[in-house]
Amino acid sequence: MPDSIKKMIESFKMLPGIGEKTAERMAFSVMNFDDDQIELFISSLNDVHTKIKKCEICNTLTENDKCSVCSSNNRDNTYLCVVDDVKNVFLFEKMGMFNGFYHVLDGLISPMDGINPEDIGLDKLLDRIKKENFKEIIFAFNPSIEAETTAMYIKRILDGYDLKFTRLASGVPMGANMEYVDSLTLERPSYHLLGDNMKKVFSILKKLVFSAFLIYGYNLIAVNFNLLIPINICNISIVTFLGAPGMLALVLFKFVTR
Ligand SMILES: [Zn+2]
Repeated sequence: MPDSIKKMIESFKMLPGIGEKTAERMAFSVMNFDDDQIELFISSLNDVHTKIKKCEICNTLTENDKCSVCSSNNRDNTYLCVVDDVKNVFLFEKMGMFNGFYHVLDGLISPMDGINPEDIGLDKLLDRIKKENFKEIIFAFNPSIEAETTAMYIKRILDGYDLKFTRLASGVPMGANMEYVDSLTLERPSYHLLGDNMKKVFSILKKLVFSAFLIYGYNLIAVNFNLLIPINICNISIVTFLGAPGMLALVLFKFVTR
């Protein structure tokens, strides 16, 4: 095999999860690229190497001094979402369910591995929280002992500040990775991110749906057992018509507002 192909295969093997066979397949498919594709491939490798840097405020990856989130005027400056993996910032942005700001830590505190608060850039985070007007700090870590330790540590240092601490990952099982969690699991704990008015609307809707469900259930029993009790005042066809979607909606609301 020519040296240049061997070198290409070795290069692909540097990527995570890529073994000999896959690297070979990738190298051979690169050989079929036309000039434009090769140019794009080379320039994108070069660009991520030379242009990408950390946002000076939140540490997320950007081509400018400040990332697009930190430079935006349309975000809610009372929420700060703290992550330990920059990929999660892009994940949350893609899902478009969070409109606050982010802060990326360089990992999590792990005394067992000798990783202390100063190693993960906690000072920068704490300074930022003390200076800005956040009301709620949301920890969006993958569940682990290290995540607990880090969250506890931050909470203890900020004791006495008017802050609410929540965690976004409460629906994620221990040991699960945020990357593989479906959007519903992440949306559930985010109910608290809705505004107060939205919460009121949700709670009224929930009650309405629940009432419809009760009437539906009662009518089902009443019809089946031929119970002609005055409480059965609703026209059964209407109630049945509303009841089935109501039941579905109830299940959905349970998910969203858990
Ligand atoms: Zn930023």
